[in-house]
Amino acid sequence: MTVGYGPGMTTPTSPAGKPILGRKRPVPAHIAVYAFVIVPFLALLAAVPLAWGWGLSWLDVALAAAFYVLTCLGATVGFHRYFTHGAFKAGRALRIGLAVVGSMAVQGPILHWVADHRRHHAFADREGDPHSPWLFGTSPAALARGFWHAHLGWVLQRDLTNQERFVPDLLADRDMRVVHRLFGPLTIVTLALPALLGGLISWSWAGALTALFWAGLIRVFALHHVTWSVNSVCHMIGERPFAARDRSANFWPLAILSMGESWHNLHHADPTSARHGVLRGQIDISARTIWLFERLGWAWDVRWPTPARLARITAGVVA
Ligand SMILES: [Zn+2]
Ligand SMILES: [Zn+2]
Repeated sequence: MTVGYGPGMTTPTSPAGKPILGRKRPVPAHIAVYAFVIVPFLALLAAVPLAWGWGLSWLDVALAAAFYVLTCLGATVGFHRYFTHGAFKAGRALRIGLAVVGSMAVQGPILHWVADHRRHHAFADREGDPHSPWLFGTSPAALARGFWHAHLGWVLQRDLTNQERFVPDLLADRDMRVVHRLFGPLTIVTLALPALLGGLISWSWAGALTALFWAGLIRVFALHHVTWSVNSVCHMIGERPFAARDRSANFWPLAILSMGESWHNLHHADPTSARHGVLRGQIDISARTIWLFERLGWAWDVRWPTPARLARITAGVVA
């Protein structure tokens, strides 16, 4: 099986023989994982009726949704499926557009993001993986520590992934180096733009302020946690219908919010596939967006899954 984390990259080999699965996660730790994911969202939802009418309007909701969808797709279609894995080819305009909008998800500058993620695939759930929840053991305490590390803790570490090794293709592209350096200004844009729109449409300072809060800060916060949940939850809980050499799993509750990225077991089994939700009923909004780009003539050489390819990676067929 190939790791396939990008065109022109060499595929690292993994050590053979070591079992990947430990014992099953104890129930208390299992409940804790769910609690970490669900409680902050419930708290946020509880804040909505409290703020409705004085600190939250339909305009804020619409702006938050629009910027969420836009920046999420920038990260999933752009940073992830296109730049990291080369799932399709695109012209210069779309390439720069995806790099800019992906940066507006505020998940780190493009060279860092892509380097970290290629490293994640090269060492998935082994020593060297920047954000595996399985590096500390399988006791409840080790899993709690692993969940924290995979979700957010790794973001706070200072060690950066070696760009020369993992993203030589992007380093060689002047456009990408420029977008990388513009990460700071783009972070301001992603917060200021909804505030500007909210202020202009409502023609009030209050409208600008509430749009900044809901469509700027809360939207970035929500997308952060959805993305980080793919790193943490989707390597702990879910279905594993495909043969991947790690603990990646398909976690259906996040399919819509993650725009298809939570079909993470398929993704690790076939990393360059443009579609992650390949089974019946698995909604994949990012794949649909790539399909639209293809129809518009903006994307080509799209690596759509084929029955033969899927048969190859179905669990039990390959080791
Ligand atoms: Zn993963
Ligand atoms: Zn990936």
